[in-house]
Amino acid sequence: MTTNTKGGHFRNRAAALLLALLSGLCSSLASAESTAVYAGKLFDSESGKLLENRTIHIVDGRIESVQKGFAKRDRERLVDLRNYTVLPGLMDMHTHLAYEYGPRTYMEPFTWNPADYTLRAVDTARRTLRAGFTTVRDLGDSDNVTISLRKAIEAGTIEGPRIFTAGKAIATTGGHADPTNSFRYDLMGSPGPADGVINGPVSAREAVRQRYKDGADLIKITATGGVLSVARSGQNPQFMQDELEAIVAAARDYGFTVAVHAHGKEGMDRAIRAGVDSIEHGTYMDGETIELMRRHNVWYVPTLLAGEWVTQKAMLDGFFPEVVRGKASTIGPLLQNTFADAYKRGVKIAFGTDSGVSRHGDNAREFALMVAAGMTPADAIRSATWNAAQLLKMGDELGSISEGKRADIVAVSGNPLEDITELQRVAFVMKDGKIYKAP
Ligand SMILES: [Zn+2]
Repeated sequence: MTTNTKGGHFRNRAAALLLALLSGLCSSLASAESTAVYAGKLFDSESGKLLENRTIHIVDGRIESVQKGFAKRDRERLVDLRNYTVLPGLMDMHTHLAYEYGPRTYMEPFTWNPADYTLRAVDTARRTLRAGFTTVRDLGDSDNVTISLRKAIEAGTIEGPRIFTAGKAIATTGGHADPTNSFRYDLMGSPGPADGVINGPVSAREAVRQRYKDGADLIKITATGGVLSVARSGQNPQFMQDELEAIVAAARDYGFTVAVHAHGKEGMDRAIRAGVDSIEHGTYMDGETIELMRRHNVWYVPTLLAGEWVTQKAMLDGFFPEVVRGKASTIGPLLQNTFADAYKRGVKIAFGTDSGVSRHGDNAREFALMVAAGMTPADAIRSATWNAAQLLKMGDELGSISEGKRADIVAVSGNPLEDITELQRVAFVMKDGKIYKAP
């Protein structure tokens, strides 16, 4: 009897558990998250044209179909954007989520812990997503902060864009991303491949492999001097040909693309010949470099916002150390013309802001600078959607609102082809089918 009763208890509890599991399953099936988005206007990033009156059907974070007219199915949740222009989620190919420049930035290496950078990145990631940027490349952090950030965002712990990160950028001794540049001798030490400082092909390979081990998604190198490092030259070449070739060859083994910070022509040309994937900034590129880029199918990521920002800050007394101020006032103003020339001559362009120099969340101001330099609004938007997805080699998943792709969707109330600054006022943000901001 006792045993029977116990057995009965057990059976009842098992049945109850089964029921609970089944009903859980059913409710998750029912909420198999089906959404219909009514789009008054829809930007087709493949053609650069605006389509009218479309319904986007989304199931489990992916776009199932895009159909003419407005028609919601029975079980679908409705998102009514009939009065809006709907676009693919914006993509910024050059950010630094762990950094945000200010007058005290040069003190941070001595006063900040990895946790401080991480907590800042939690805030910058949220701002970036809410500004309509559903995907970013992060082109340099310290302590692999943005790799952990990417994991936390993927796990749904915090809000942020989809991240493809280079982890710590790779430089040569004294180069633009040498982390102890300008430190006093006893603090300078001798950083190596794990810290992103290489000399020679052997340590170049080691640095790339370390990034694979760290969990990075791509490789970033600093092929020439830079503006904001406390060092004399903003444009000297800082890698030799054999080092660049070792970086690219090792990167290919792990499926990494290679993004290259470069201002000066010589360092840029060497990197392009070595087979890298993108040139960032590219300030002193000339006709010859542009031809080389076209021949090697290399992307250009202009970062006009960073050029504007350093130019403005260079006018303020005491904002930059003097050695930085000189470089900022020379290099900053050149970027807009370089970009105009590269665009006219048909270089492939992907959108990037270098946010972290300028404020995170202001990324969309880059569009206005691109258009002011002669780019059509449609091409500017394509650079941040269709083109960016190609650069990431994620063209099957991202970059347009079309069947089978991830449901990364944003909306603005006006027409960005008539007024590009509309993109600075994103009213709706969806990533992977989840809504983060709604009108
Ligand atoms: Zn940068």
